[in-house]
Amino acid sequence: MLGQELNNGLHAPVLPRGGHRKPDIVLAAMAVATEREYGLFINGESTEPKAGGVTELSEPATGEPLARVALASEQDVDRAVDAARAALDGDWGRTPPTERSRLLHALADAIQANRKELAELEVRNVGKAISSVKAELHQGVENFRFYASAIGSIAGRSNPIGGSLLFYSLKEPVGVAGQIVPWNYPLMMTTWKLAPALAAGCSVVLKPDSATPLTAIRMAELAGEVGFPPGAINVVPGEGKTVGAYMVKHPGIDKIAFTGSTETGAEIMRLGSDSIKRLTLELGGKSPNLVFADADLGDAIPSSVWSIYYSAGQSCEARSRVLVERPLYDEFVSRFAEAAKSLKVGDPLESETQMGSLVSQEHRQKVHGYVGRGVEEGAELVTGGEPTDGNGAFYPPTVLAKVDNSMAVAQEEIFGPVVTIIPFDDEEDAARIANDSRYGLMATVWTGDPAKGHRLARRIKAGTVGINMPYTAFPGIPFGGYKQSGFGRELGLDSLELYLETKSVIVSTSPKPFNPFQL
Ligand code: NAD
Repeated sequence: MLGQELNNGLHAPVLPRGGHRKPDIVLAAMAVATEREYGLFINGESTEPKAGGVTELSEPATGEPLARVALASEQDVDRAVDAARAALDGDWGRTPPTERSRLLHALADAIQANRKELAELEVRNVGKAISSVKAELHQGVENFRFYASAIGSIAGRSNPIGGSLLFYSLKEPVGVAGQIVPWNYPLMMTTWKLAPALAAGCSVVLKPDSATPLTAIRMAELAGEVGFPPGAINVVPGEGKTVGAYMVKHPGIDKIAFTGSTETGAEIMRLGSDSIKRLTLELGGKSPNLVFADADLGDAIPSSVWSIYYSAGQSCEARSRVLVERPLYDEFVSRFAEAAKSLKVGDPLESETQMGSLVSQEHRQKVHGYVGRGVEEGAELVTGGEPTDGNGAFYPPTVLAKVDNSMAVAQEEIFGPVVTIIPFDDEEDAARIANDSRYGLMATVWTGDPAKGHRLARRIKAGTVGINMPYTAFPGIPFGGYKQSGFGRELGLDSLELYLETKSVIVSTSPKPFNPFQL
């Protein structure tokens, strides 16, 4: 997911309890999550839900209790929308671009200053490795800085269209933006959504997944502390099928930016159609990673391993289909499997850990079911494939070889640490298999022939194609899908544009009275 692996000086945070963790990690307890309850964040303050409830979160890596979080009801969404609308009609709507830019930088500074707490919350809430979370946090900070600068690019146009007609266009915020975020990158996705919307001057009602809301709530609190006016940012954790659906239908919300599964994206299109809701949909993927026989395997193998097992495969752009040129196939499978086996899987709070746990036991069950299905369909299980013992939702890096692209494991999004390795004959065959998917989010090509890389970049139907480059998302580079991976873009100036409306203003400058029938 990330544009860079960074070491920005964070230290692995620590947990208060448990013989399951190394003593040096357990000693200096922070316990930030368990010491408090998390309310909704509406109109600049933490608040109790009107009719929602409370959810008890536990840590996926240990199964131990983590935090109590308020869940929003439809009434709370109404309150949040009212606050967002009032902000737009009031202080926030009147905030000049230079001040919006300053506030975005101030929020970036606050996230940076509170990075240890945010990192611990994210690691303990999602189960992902601290090394990944550090990089995601860094990108989150950079997102706010990028859009703080990008505010300067918001401008209309004026074209000389001749005669005595003057035209100019204005760029105006879309209005109240409803933003729906999934559980796999709660912190980073929240920054992807908040930063361009606020830069554009929209106010926001953001719904994190009810299982992973902690960092979104904390960032909204920090935004209040650095001076964002009440109502500019509201956070309402809640159930997708009820509260999320209510947001999509809500007449007071002008746009929905959604990241999640393709099935939910389709439902959102249906629910939003009555009110002609503006939509940005970032959906699922089954991204290919093409390895040609002329590739530098010293780069291609570790990068291909990273591209599937980063965040335990719970990434929309995980390169879960590795396509390998036939003469290289057996050697590649064996070297890839060795590299996968050597990954350090374990306590996500330990700095050397490369892969933490999955997000929940239920999700692990789903991932494991897919592995069984792959084997039934004729795939060879080379390594992994058995849930790890213990209370945590751990699953080992798993390799399925001899996969045919028509198998369910090659067509459906498993969203776990399971790679499918598929042979191909030549460039033509590689392009055909790469495009034989309902998804089109990302692809990577490994080749020693630059021209071949560029040819494939044009042929592959995906929103991003990397040539000898595994990373996918940088603050300034648009990210999004072709086909059923969605539409619209996150990141880059493209995302900012999607939070703006264009208004054309036309005026007659003729000294004579305007006669509309004199065409
Ligand atoms: P999901 O679709 O189940 O849920 C995503 C969010 O939508 C959650 O906040 C959920 O509460 C909400 N939701 C669920 N049903 C809803 C409804 N009917 N109306 C409104 N909101 C609803 O997805 P998930 O399992 O949480 O996330 C994993 C999926 O997200 C994967 O498919 C992954 O590929 C995708 N994803 C895509 C990108 C991208 O940028 N393309 C990035 C990350 C994740």
